[in-house]
Amino acid sequence: MSPVIPIRSDTSSGCSDVVPLVERGQREVFCGLTGIIWLHRKIQDAFFLVVGSRTCAHLIQSAAGVMIFAEPRFGTAIIDERDLAGLADVHTELDRVVQQLLARRPDIRLLFLVGSCPSEVIKLDLSRAAERLNTIHHPAVRVLNYSGSGIETTFTQGEDACLAAMVPGLPAPSAPEAPPALMVVGTLADVVEDQLRGLLERMGLKVDFFPPRRSQEMPVVGTHTRFLLAQPFLADTARALQARGAQHLGAPFPLGVEGTTAWLQAAATAFGVAPELFDSVTQAARQRAEKALAVHRQRLQGQRIFFFPDSQLEIPLARFVHRELGMDLVEVGTPYLHRQHMAPELAWLPAGTRVSEGQDVDRQLDRCLADAPDMVVCGLGLANPLEAQGITTKWAIELVFTPIQGYEQAADLAGLFSRPLQRREKLAA
Ligand code: SF4
Repeated sequence: MSPVIPIRSDTSSGCSDVVPLVERGQREVFCGLTGIIWLHRKIQDAFFLVVGSRTCAHLIQSAAGVMIFAEPRFGTAIIDERDLAGLADVHTELDRVVQQLLARRPDIRLLFLVGSCPSEVIKLDLSRAAERLNTIHHPAVRVLNYSGSGIETTFTQGEDACLAAMVPGLPAPSAPEAPPALMVVGTLADVVEDQLRGLLERMGLKVDFFPPRRSQEMPVVGTHTRFLLAQPFLADTARALQARGAQHLGAPFPLGVEGTTAWLQAAATAFGVAPELFDSVTQAARQRAEKALAVHRQRLQGQRIFFFPDSQLEIPLARFVHRELGMDLVEVGTPYLHRQHMAPELAWLPAGTRVSEGQDVDRQLDRCLADAPDMVVCGLGLANPLEAQGITTKWAIELVFTPIQGYEQAADLAGLFSRPLQRREKLAA
């Protein structure tokens, strides 16, 4: 049997004490409404009603790529000029829209009122609206609210705000002395969730995933809860769970073979799984993934990569591409650096890596062009100008939309980096 990979496989503390380059200038990011794209696919009886402008409606519609007649589980209640001029009572309008929606869609069990820049600018109090609508529609439908606005946020914060809004309503255990229970927090594609659940169950661990696939299946949370984060952008959700007494299990994120192994190991250690059992459960998938990664490593080894801050996945991705694919890190930008959640990841970055937090886009572009990396991971707005400069790019948002966690997806994740380089080589040939 091959040995279990420890969380820190070397004695170096990597970038644990890194002092990031902090920038607070103009940023190029999507807003938190984007999270609706993957959240509405996950929670199958939820509806996301954006209270916003036509711009918000266009963003969601085009990002989701759903036909208007396909009855999607999201929509926009448009704030128009009359609302902005105070000529109409926005709350009355909203109640009417919700009434119509719920009458037409009896399958909805959970309704999110999602705030936007326009609703925040006119100081529309959606928590008050949710409270009022709950008195009308609960228990048939639960109404919650959160903000997806782009004011001072980055696009993955939409999921964080959504999950954090659900935490206060999670059921408490019926007995005060409930046995410890494992919960995985963060939206994962169903296929990934099934694989991770399968591995954990073969270790004898029962696990709840949050968010669940249906709103009626909300996990119980309390002091008995031990939770693993599946996504690195859930600071508010983690804080809300901790306020309910749940304990966070610190671990790298389940990206690549090492990350997945260490993430599973954190659960196994917390629940006393025997090392032999852990090893026998994970060995085959680990070896398969290592073999599949080797092909991509041949192409990516020694390639220089630059991460612009966008998804908050940058640090775990940088750790993966460096340690498992041999890429050289030019700069690793992140919108926010959560020291505690990132501690195991920072320890795995090579010492001396240039880590930046926040953005001043012009200065960062200057650094990037001066460094001339082989590949840049960035938002859509920067990709085309950089491609025009001859730099190969990868859209950060694609890394959030694609199932990339776990062993079986490790090679797919590597492929997201190797394919753009391959494409450029073909175009240059
Ligand atoms: S929430 Fe703000 S940033 Fe997002 S689409 Fe609407 S107006 Fe634009």
